[in-house]
Amino acid sequence: MGNCLQTSTSDDINLLRDSESSNTRDTSPEQLDPPPPYQEAVRPTVPVYHTAPNVTRPATQLTEEEQVRIAQRIGLIQHLPTGIYDGSKKNRECVICMYEFQYGDTVRFLPCMHTYHTHCIDDWLMRSFTCPSCMEPVDAALLTTYETN
Ligand SMILES: [Zn+2]
Ligand SMILES: [Zn+2]
Repeated sequence: MGNCLQTSTSDDINLLRDSESSNTRDTSPEQLDPPPPYQEAVRPTVPVYHTAPNVTRPATQLTEEEQVRIAQRIGLIQHLPTGIYDGSKKNRECVICMYEFQYGDTVRFLPCMHTYHTHCIDDWLMRSFTCPSCMEPVDAALLTTYETN
């Protein structure tokens, strides 16, 4: 009987120690460290911030060639069809801002049939001329559309 009591006592102590150490781990400030680098790693693939390139690079510092390229890109973006979300589209979420489309939202349709908020995709396309969902180059798709027209 004495052995049994001793065993259970040491078990209790181990349990207490375990829970204590796990508690310390949970509240440890080290837990706060991982999020920042994680967020930074996610940013390039899913940019949710809406800064246009001219925010980091003032228009006055752009070369003439860059200005022409930006103007051309804006022109191409404006050729993409836009519409008002009516709830009938297959994809119901804008993968850029991760918000679901609401009835009446202004959306832009890419040639690959993916749909995004106009302001989200316009901002995205200024930095990367590919569909953020399927990585289909919008450039080439647009040129094909022009040829068939
Ligand atoms: Zn959006
Ligand atoms: Zn796509």
